[in-house]
Amino acid sequence: MNQLTGSREQRAGSREPESKGQGRQGRQERQGSGQPTTSYQLPTTNYQLPVLHCFLLSLGVALVSALPAQALQVRVAPTKPHLGDTLSVVVRPNNPDINVSPIVTVNRKTYPAFVIAPGVFRAFVPTTPLQKVGKREIQISSEGKVRNIAVWVANRKFPVQRINFRPGKAGLEATELELSRVAAFKSLVTPQKFWNGPFLKPNRGRVSTIYGVRRYYNGKFAKDYYHRGVDYAGPVGSPVVAPAAGRVSLIGLESQGFRVHGNIIGLDHGQGVTSVFLHLSRIYVREGDIVRAGQPIGAVGSTGASTGPHLHWGFYVQGEAVDPTTWREQGMN
Ligand SMILES: [Zn+2]
Repeated sequence: MNQLTGSREQRAGSREPESKGQGRQGRQERQGSGQPTTSYQLPTTNYQLPVLHCFLLSLGVALVSALPAQALQVRVAPTKPHLGDTLSVVVRPNNPDINVSPIVTVNRKTYPAFVIAPGVFRAFVPTTPLQKVGKREIQISSEGKVRNIAVWVANRKFPVQRINFRPGKAGLEATELELSRVAAFKSLVTPQKFWNGPFLKPNRGRVSTIYGVRRYYNGKFAKDYYHRGVDYAGPVGSPVVAPAAGRVSLIGLESQGFRVHGNIIGLDHGQGVTSVFLHLSRIYVREGDIVRAGQPIGAVGSTGASTGPHLHWGFYVQGEAVDPTTWREQGMN
């Protein structure tokens, strides 16, 4: 549990294959189709219309050839992502008045895009330690145009914990109630964007377990496990504050059957971005409340499957637990 801080150092030491395919980012996939440029034989009468048509046609040709790079601008950040990072895909359709969201697809899964400024859309694509290292083909469709952008997701060396228990003592099992309620919460995709600016630390305690830690149970690698959040070692009763604004969309109590999560708050930050706070001793908010960044929402405890007082902050993008570090340090506006 300890000595697991320093994610930056871990990342700096990981191998980074050179980015592949990023040279394609500036390339335009579709060119304007060639327009006929042959001259017309004007009819002898009523030639105003064809002249105008011809004029517009040649103007159209000029515009298409003068603005070849304008079709469907796409920017993906970060340019050198690692497993656990959130990819931000910003799309500027050619027509700024378009109000139909572009379709962003990776590996046949579609990620919702939302308006973030006039004529600008953004989709978040989560990456996790369980995914493959390497190339992601991001396909963006808008206004009948398609762009494919290749991004290389590099490895990151996550710390490892070795957990040993006696046979038959594999720990508490989650109840159906908590699994279904938490799954429903994580699948929320609210169009409204509640957060603004970098996220705050939800507790003042030191970080005791970073995001992404992998485990061996009795010497066997747990291939589906990774630490889906960040642990803060604040004492019992220390404040838990909302790291960003949001709507309280889940409250669960150990006494109701939240056996593993313990007393839990789920905050919906909007656009598929959600937070859960686990093992709480106290809860100060109710479902439906809108909270602001920094507002106390509960207190650290050790309820549920917890070996000692700490706050577990789980941070999710489109249902996948991602590393909130970048969201805290740089923000994702
Ligand atoms: Zn944790």
